[in-house]
Amino acid sequence: MPQMFHDVACTVCGCVCDDLIVTVEGDRIANVRGACRLAEPWFARLSNAPKQAAACIAGQPVTHDKTIRRAAEILGNSHSPLIWGLTRSSTAGQRAAIALAEQLSGTVDTLTSLNPAATLAMQNVGQSTCSLGEVRNRADLVIFWRTNPAVSHPRHLERYSVEPQGLFLPRGPADRTIIVIDSSATETSEFADEFLQVTPAAGQQFIDALRQVVSGSELTIEVDCGVTEEQVRQLAERMKACRYGALFFGVGQGTNSESQATVESLLRLVTKLNQFTRFMAHYVPATGGLTGADSVLCWQTGFPFAVNFASGYPRFDPQKFTANRLLEQGKVDACVLVGSEGVPELSTAAQQRLREIPTIALDYPNREPAIEATVQFTTAIYGIHAAGTAYRMDGVPIPLRQMLPTTYPRDDEILTAIAVGVHASKSLHR
Ligand code: SF4
Repeated sequence: MPQMFHDVACTVCGCVCDDLIVTVEGDRIANVRGACRLAEPWFARLSNAPKQAAACIAGQPVTHDKTIRRAAEILGNSHSPLIWGLTRSSTAGQRAAIALAEQLSGTVDTLTSLNPAATLAMQNVGQSTCSLGEVRNRADLVIFWRTNPAVSHPRHLERYSVEPQGLFLPRGPADRTIIVIDSSATETSEFADEFLQVTPAAGQQFIDALRQVVSGSELTIEVDCGVTEEQVRQLAERMKACRYGALFFGVGQGTNSESQATVESLLRLVTKLNQFTRFMAHYVPATGGLTGADSVLCWQTGFPFAVNFASGYPRFDPQKFTANRLLEQGKVDACVLVGSEGVPELSTAAQQRLREIPTIALDYPNREPAIEATVQFTTAIYGIHAAGTAYRMDGVPIPLRQMLPTTYPRDDEILTAIAVGVHASKSLHR
């Protein structure tokens, strides 16, 4: 007898749409309504029964207990372990990963360290923010700065920023002005009332000019960035005159420090705009799950990524304790990957180091792990096989339910069992 689940949350991107309708037949997903083209293939993979063994050592299936013992042995012998990933996990798994890193006096890091510009900029200058629900109900001016959510977050426009009717925007798109600023036309710019093409290297100059005009100062910056002075003045006036403005931004293509400087300027511009109207800024991360991992790490340690426990307390250093940097410098002798999907984005040297040291990977079923790990666990998928919590890109926690039965354990159960194993083996040798 098919079973229907309503208001199901999708965790594929940071929108965490929680209005899907899923039909389950036995132990497989038979149909999904409301999934976008990013989510469809993800759910389609789940319509096949998982084939992966729950636990393997060197590629060979072995018992759960034996695998936990081997993982505990690896970490018990490690002097500088790294726990990395966490983005496709849930609050329980993220907490367990942080607790293990602390127990081992190791380092815990998330995929944010691969592209930390926005997070570091927000730390430096702060952020005026709000929920996506507030954007939907109030924002009569929406600006997309170097981000293309029509591709990266396909239902963002439908649910929050472009199409929906809101409490104070009863005519939906007719009450809203959409402006896209990017270096070339994008799928998102097709929805825009106005598209401003700003040359890639001149973003900072454009924002600084905008800030001068918003502040009421004389425009002393030479505007040579693909738009005219008049366009800068018009945009500044439009931003000041709106009732509620929302700026969604990406980090662009520059180096990390260039991107960070640009994001800091954007955030300062939004702060300035709040002297005239209500304006908020939201980072649109390239992948989902980053907000949850960073939020849990923040409320557990005080820092969003790159946290080291070697001194007995959490230390944050984005120059020293990122996974890529530690691996490149050979400062990691064992690694736990809570989701191995970020491995291809590491530098060649960091990936080479990963192949040289013992690795313990926890991955979801029905997808190829990104590395041949020494110890491989297949874990239950939160929101499909297990209840949990996912954080939307605006930091709002969304509950996840179990829909399918599974014999796979959750990642927090694996990580906690490894922690107990490490503790037991250390007690034995005391
Ligand atoms: S927009 Fe994102 S969260 Fe919503 S259905 Fe598509 S992939 Fe899932």
